Amino acid sequence: MTLLLFGPPGCGKGTQARYIAAMLGIPAISTGEMFRSECRAGTELGQRVNSILASGGLVSDEIVNQVVASRLSRPDCQSGFLLDGYPRTVAQADFLGALVKQQGLPAPVVVHIDVPESALVERLCARRQCPQCGRIYNLLHQAPLKEGYCDDDGGELTQRKDDCEDVIRQRLRAYEEQSAPLVEYYASGEYLRVDGNRTPERITEEIEARLTGRWVR
Ligand code: ADP
Repeated sequence: MTLLLFGPPGCGKGTQARYIAAMLGIPAISTGEMFRSECRAGTELGQRVNSILASGGLVSDEIVNQVVASRLSRPDCQSGFLLDGYPRTVAQADFLGALVKQQGLPAPVVVHIDVPESALVERLCARRQCPQCGRIYNLLHQAPLKEGYCDDDGGELTQRKDDCEDVIRQRLRAYEEQSAPLVEYYASGEYLRVDGNRTPERITEEIEARLTGRWVR
């Protein structure tokens, strides 16, 4: 199956992506993670997008679409994939629709994780991540057992450069202006809205329950 996790920055897409993709046995693909890894590696693409990520704006549709098309053509995506953070514009959604059709895959199921804007800034400021395994923590609600270190592999937790208040506000603005219209775009298709203002475990349970039967056996 093809599944899109949709929602504003900080809604919990990255956290849910790990669990849901493992449950479905499909790869979880995060365009944000792909760009950050290009930046860290200092590639030509990384150098082109670095300042865009730092300012909280969106990378151009042309670049993102190219990166996604190349990733989805790999063999592990043949029977499906989960996308986290893509599409973020109507032009990207059109592009993805055509790509999925071309690969003979079903139209994507969209899971919209809805969180009120007032909760997002606080969440994003408190977000930390393990650079080794990618696990995401939140100092307020999902703190690691040992302060500053990953529970799973002991990696030293880091904070994303764009998780500071000014940049967070810009990312939320980009979401409202360019991504929010996708709710209407997908609402008439396979679209599920879940309340993201709960614990990650409850959200995973609900997504799993609502996918089971209809899309997952
Ligand atoms: P967020 O926590 O804001 O959802 P992501 O990790 O998904 O963050 O993305 C980080 C940054 O990468 C975005 O702010 C944006 O600059 C860029 N980016 C990621 N996905 C896309 C996309 N589909 N279109 C344009 N830019 C993107």
